[in-house]
Amino acid sequence: MEEIQTDILIIGSGLAGILAALEAEKSGVHVLLVSKFALGWGTNTSLSNGAFTAVNSLFSKEDHLKATLEAGKNLSRIAMVKTLVEKAEEAILQLRNYGVPLEERGIGYVMARPQGSPDLGGVLLIRPLVERIKRSSVKLIPNFPIFDLIVEEGRIGGAFGFLRDGRPCLVRSRAIILATGGGGALYQRNDNQKTILGDGYSLALRAGLPVYDIEFIQSYPLVLAEPRLSSIPLFPPFPKGILLMDEKGENLLDLLDLKGNLNQAIIHERDKFTSKLFELSQKRDIYCDLTHISEEEWNRYPLNFLKKSKFPFRERPFLIGPAAHFFMGGIEIDEKGSTPLPGLFAAGEVAWGVHGANRLGGNALTECAVFGILSGQSASEYVRSIEGKTPLLSTKFSKRRWEEKARAYTRKKKGSFETPRDLLREFKIFAWKYGGPLREEEDLKTGLNLLSRFKKRIERISPESVNDLFHKRELENIALLTHAILLGSLLRKESRGSFLRKDFPDPDNQNWLKHTCYRLAGEDLQISHPPVNPPAPSSLD
Ligand SMILES: Cc1cc2nc3c(=O)[nH]c(=O)nc-3n(C[C@H](O)[C@H](O)[C@H](O)COP(=O)(O)OP(=O)(O)OC[C@H]3O[C@@H](n4cnc5c(N)ncnc54)[C@H](O)[C@@H]3O)c2cc1C
Repeated sequence: MEEIQTDILIIGSGLAGILAALEAEKSGVHVLLVSKFALGWGTNTSLSNGAFTAVNSLFSKEDHLKATLEAGKNLSRIAMVKTLVEKAEEAILQLRNYGVPLEERGIGYVMARPQGSPDLGGVLLIRPLVERIKRSSVKLIPNFPIFDLIVEEGRIGGAFGFLRDGRPCLVRSRAIILATGGGGALYQRNDNQKTILGDGYSLALRAGLPVYDIEFIQSYPLVLAEPRLSSIPLFPPFPKGILLMDEKGENLLDLLDLKGNLNQAIIHERDKFTSKLFELSQKRDIYCDLTHISEEEWNRYPLNFLKKSKFPFRERPFLIGPAAHFFMGGIEIDEKGSTPLPGLFAAGEVAWGVHGANRLGGNALTECAVFGILSGQSASEYVRSIEGKTPLLSTKFSKRRWEEKARAYTRKKKGSFETPRDLLREFKIFAWKYGGPLREEEDLKTGLNLLSRFKKRIERISPESVNDLFHKRELENIALLTHAILLGSLLRKESRGSFLRKDFPDPDNQNWLKHTCYRLAGEDLQISHPPVNPPAPSSLD
């Protein structure tokens, strides 16, 4: 068994993880940054548009607070939103100091794109940060998936995982920052990186921590669905000539009663539009038609982005449809990024609190920047505060237990011929059908029944290679996460925000101004509903 010691372990190398690492390093502690894939690149950060919502000359702090709370539909945690708003400007400044080319635009900041650059905003964002972290004293281990957090004597003791060559590895660490991102890739239709499968939520649940509001998953209505193309979202403003149709050529904008106004639907009624489109997509294929678009419109944002592809977008209609995009729920942190478990911190999409039942566009990256920095500061303060008092190795720490666990993970099972890869494909179709943007009681109950069969099949998988070992753990993680999504959605008898309960289509403020709190007791997933507290204020005072 490989062993590594550090002061702070950071799991995840997206915006939140890299900023946390750079911040923690400043205090002189030892920092180790690990990720499942190449550092910085297997992240949703690198796929993003690179748009940050933050105070600027056109958008006040009050505006930011109000817009965030409105989007969150009374489920945002006020203290978290206030911290986001107060610290956003400082975080933008910090990013600029690290060489990120941000320019002020509308209600926030976007990447300054060099003339003619084909790069995505996310690429322009992550590139200088990766260069910066490589020049720092932070120790970096890519391709190192973490399987478990280690909790000893009521505090974090480290983490366990397997290195790329299959060797089990124990990291002893005084503090850990979870920056594992969301879980959008658990669904058949998603626009996330394929490794973003909600590992952080499962790590936290198995370590005994609660997670909150995980049933709220934001989907985006118009994402490329052609089999050989990446699942790229098409963002507004759309030109007038754009059409949505089915395979028989029926105009879907008319069918959905959108009166031809796609921009209106996407900007003001996105969730309703998404669930209507999802329902249609379960029965027929949906195509987008750009054949009537003028040359001028084709050369303008956002359609000019499609020009990079060789696909004949202007010659024939192409497949399109809704896809999972962002997780609003997650791990509880305070305004400084600390979780309720001493030594454990979290930041970015894995953390819960800012977005409530739905997210204001551009707030995800701002959240990563603000809480990434804060969690790096808090983790190093924590390490300094326990230095000399708490030994790195707790008295109860048992290396043998983890050696035994490593053997259990790699143990061959008899009689199973399923590969994790095939099962993963099947699982994602199931998750999208039963836990997608449109849900109702019968389907959710059926989904929960089917899930128990999936769990048994996952258990029987025999890892034949390192990849199998990694995928099997991912399957265990998404099975747990999907269990939470289905059960949480079944219990929430209302529609508020990012998904529609077909059988309860309206918000119910009388009974459902509540969060959903998920805990794991052994194998048992338990749910409670703490009330929202305190009620939403309208100002920063
Ligand atoms: C197509 C797209 C466009 C978007 N555009 C915008 C936008 O313009 N503005 C905005 O505000 N938001 C946007 N978002 C959302 C935003 O990009 C994400 O919420 C944000 O980047 C998440 O950053 P993060 O640091 O939390 O996680 P990520 O950037 O997703 O990084 C997660 C990291 O965790 C690692 N990891 C996960 N599990 C493990 C494990 N078990 N062991 C080790 N490492 C692990 C991964 O390898 C990765 O390094 C967009 C999202 C998508 C998908």
